[in-house]
Amino acid sequence: MKRFVYADNAATTSVSPKVLEAMLPFFGENYGNAMSLYSKGREAKKPLEEARETIAGILECKPSEIYFTSCGCESDNWAIKGTALANAKKGKHIITSKIEHPAVLETCRALEKQGYEVTYLDVDENGFVNPDDVKNAIRDDTILVAVMYANNEIGTIQPIKEIARIAHERNVYCFTDAVQAVGNIPVSVKDLDVDMLSFSGHKIHAPKGIGVLYIKSGTRVFDLIDGGGQERGRRAGTENTAYIVGIATALKEAVEALPDMKRVEKMRDRLADELLKVPYSRLNGSRENRLPGNINISFEYIEGESMLLLCDMDGICISTGSACSSNSLEPSHVLLAIGLPHEKAHGSARITISHQTTDEDIDYIIEKLPPIVKRLRDMSPIYPANRT
Ligand code: PLP
Repeated sequence: MKRFVYADNAATTSVSPKVLEAMLPFFGENYGNAMSLYSKGREAKKPLEEARETIAGILECKPSEIYFTSCGCESDNWAIKGTALANAKKGKHIITSKIEHPAVLETCRALEKQGYEVTYLDVDENGFVNPDDVKNAIRDDTILVAVMYANNEIGTIQPIKEIARIAHERNVYCFTDAVQAVGNIPVSVKDLDVDMLSFSGHKIHAPKGIGVLYIKSGTRVFDLIDGGGQERGRRAGTENTAYIVGIATALKEAVEALPDMKRVEKMRDRLADELLKVPYSRLNGSRENRLPGNINISFEYIEGESMLLLCDMDGICISTGSACSSNSLEPSHVLLAIGLPHEKAHGSARITISHQTTDEDIDYIIEKLPPIVKRLRDMSPIYPANRT
């Protein structure tokens, strides 16, 4: 029987009922502007500051170090461009990795056009940045190391704590894009000792259009938006109380559900093991240090796009690359960076499950996906069994 299985949680997630319920009053009677001093304003201001405290409590930092933005991209842009602008006198060199999200890579490329120099570190075959490479890349004019916490395509979790330590030994700031990590694994800025960290609401069952940037107090970062005095004068714009309450509620819910990630991991491993029985398949990314819900698998001799469309016809949502680049036919820069040749990178599927996924959903993917791969290969003139 056909069912609907959403297995693209790295692209986005549904808004949870609890989050929706928490947000609704701010679209109705609590419509006040959080900057207004009268009671209608205070009705919006109090929950906003409570949301900041909730997030700070979970990330283990001060509420004054939490800034609300509109999305992960904005937080990433602010961290990198803000650091670049504020520290240009010290230097213009930034270190990042080749497998970052475009929110980081394109920001670095934009800065290169402004005279900054960027080192894009290689990763190993599992997508790990080697901390020694970070050490060797740091120069006297290096101002920032920006390495993501967990990769959005292959789920590899980086040794950020060690990378931050190495950066600090040389007085260099460390920023981590934790958009895929927050809500899926425990994240503490105190433990990681990073200077900046970003995450986004729509990856953790809050709405699209809300993000967070943690900036450790004392970090020299240029203000993002000039205007009113919101976000301590650093990111102006009337606060979106509803979404801010939404992201805090979602984070709290996600953290409370973290023990359930063991079950998600088990489902992930069962699914991966079954899919790897398909001939000419390989798992991309690390087996051990991997996000609990991420599977990235390459099926040689097929096109990922055709697989995606046939899965869709069976009611299964998966992706072939990151959401932002999945409308491009270029192979994923992440898969190329871990050493996959173009033909293997093309036939890759990213399947990202969550605690909403059930064992029946996994059974359904196991039932449907291997025959889809077989069907596509049966039509392929390059599949070894079809060659005469
Ligand atoms: N960073 C990573 C690792 C992501 O996966 C994404 C979204 O896919 C972003 C940044 C951008 O987040 P947003 O969609 O909130 O702008």
